Amino acid sequence: MSSPRSRWGWGTEAGALPLGPVRTRAQAFFGDLPERAPPAAPRVPPPLVPLPGAWADFATQADGARLARALGKGWCDRVRAYQGDFSTAPDVVATPRTEAEVERVLEVAERERLAVTPFGGGSSVVGGVEPRRGPGHRGTVSLDLSALQGLLELDDVSQLARLGAGTFGPALEAALGARGFTLRHFPQSFEFSTLGGWIATRAGGHFATGATHVDELVHAARMVTPRGRWATHRVPASGAGPEPLRLLVGSEGTLGVITEAWMRVRRRPGFRASASVRFEDFARAVEAARAVVQSGLQPANARLLDGAEAMLNGVSLDGRAVLVLGFESADAPVGPLLDRALALATAAGGECPEGPLVREGGEGASAADAGERWRAAFLKGPYLQDALLRLDVLADTFETACTWRAFPELYRAVKGELEEALAPWGGGLVTCRFTHLYPDGPAPYFTFLTRVRPGAELEQWATLKATASEVLLRQGGTITHHHGVGRVHRPWYERESPPPFTAALRAVKRELDPAGVLNPGVLLP
Ligand SMILES: Cc1cc2nc3c(=O)[nH]c(=O)nc-3n(C[C@H](O)[C@H](O)[C@H](O)COP(=O)(O)OP(=O)(O)OC[C@H]3O[C@@H](n4cnc5c(N)ncnc54)[C@H](O)[C@@H]3O)c2cc1C
Repeated sequence: MSSPRSRWGWGTEAGALPLGPVRTRAQAFFGDLPERAPPAAPRVPPPLVPLPGAWADFATQADGARLARALGKGWCDRVRAYQGDFSTAPDVVATPRTEAEVERVLEVAERERLAVTPFGGGSSVVGGVEPRRGPGHRGTVSLDLSALQGLLELDDVSQLARLGAGTFGPALEAALGARGFTLRHFPQSFEFSTLGGWIATRAGGHFATGATHVDELVHAARMVTPRGRWATHRVPASGAGPEPLRLLVGSEGTLGVITEAWMRVRRRPGFRASASVRFEDFARAVEAARAVVQSGLQPANARLLDGAEAMLNGVSLDGRAVLVLGFESADAPVGPLLDRALALATAAGGECPEGPLVREGGEGASAADAGERWRAAFLKGPYLQDALLRLDVLADTFETACTWRAFPELYRAVKGELEEALAPWGGGLVTCRFTHLYPDGPAPYFTFLTRVRPGAELEQWATLKATASEVLLRQGGTITHHHGVGRVHRPWYERESPPPFTAALRAVKRELDPAGVLNPGVLLP
């Protein structure tokens, strides 16, 4: 990575957006926006415990390493880092190079009463990587997985790749790409998140239908728990009772440390086709999205943006909703699939003035088609959030999934109640898009923006987040479709889970991690 990572914001320092154009666009909504004072100097408390001798080869207490693992990348994390508040810095950062060293970390931590937080890319937006002590803990350790990385083995007959858990998205795709394969898992945080983090949080990729949650892509995995190794059986499928793999996926570093996984990979697509369909009426656009996904077509991209979201993203400036459709295949032309999806969308009242864009053969499409343009803008999105923070604009997102029947009321209630909650701060904007589509319902993703009241921004965010979370649960949504539970979503996760399930999960935790070393407060109280 050539440019240094931003100390407080997303990605690299070089990736930061120039403020001028962002300010011009934002001022159209919010009026005059002066720039906030530069980020404060970091305040990192001294370590509470000495470095355990058994880790001397692969651990450090350097301030730089500790502050870089103090916080995730949620909006509040960025605010706290901007304010120089790194009070959650771990006492030790351990970067084990082998599974045996991971075991050594857990053994010593249990003996020395240290809490351990597994750390992948640190892109958690739910407080998942912030080191915290549980009852009786003397200190905290951030267990950085970045040394367990790379493509370790490829079975090209079965199309399976064994990869280290600490492999970041770009390195993973480069290694697979050199062998003609792709994992085809592109969360928005792709550049700065890892395979282990994706599996631990059940991440959702960029593709709208089909195998998009990482769950569908994991064939087998290995996890080190304080009570031994958990290596799952290597089979394509099994009907043998509750699955060990399913319990590991989504465990968010509370049951063990994922060290590697066999992933389902595929040939890189060479055939692509995409189009943008515009709708006067958002409800008709929702009908179109439902018709497409319930027809059995599986578009790689099927992103529906409501009018406000389309304007915010510069996709359409006339307030119309936009449905971006894209198909791809490594095997055969996909133009006919797009034609059928377009027929369904236009039957629901959509218009496609630019017509479809079809690319066939060759290695991948250029950045010219609607889906690729969307993806390029998508990866830049997090930098926009940083630029807005510098202008004292709170811009954050939350996501859910619900049935098609529940969606209209959920949408109305979220917009209505959040707009009401924004009113005391001079109002703001609430926008929505669908990130994923299922035959039984969409995954709506909301963005809210408002002016920050300096000094009160964390409380402001907490009020808005609680309002949003309450509406989601009341209207039949889930607290998260792909951002994970962490600490931020935990109270609502508990409420949406059957009580016997929560009790069973606690029992599993007690069995695997009896001393409560791993990630106290994440997923479970
Ligand atoms: C700008 C932005 C965009 C995002 N976009 C998406 C998106 O499109 N889709 C999506 O799903 N999420 C998204 N996220 C959320 C986040 O990127 C995901 O949760 C991601 O999977 C985290 O990966 P990571 O490697 O950064 O994990 P981390 O943030 O380091 O860790 C996340 C959690 O997993 C645990 N963990 C990490 N590695 C391991 C391991 N090897 N073993 C056991 N536990 C582990 C940690 O303790 C923590 O609880 C986004 C976040 C940001 C900031």
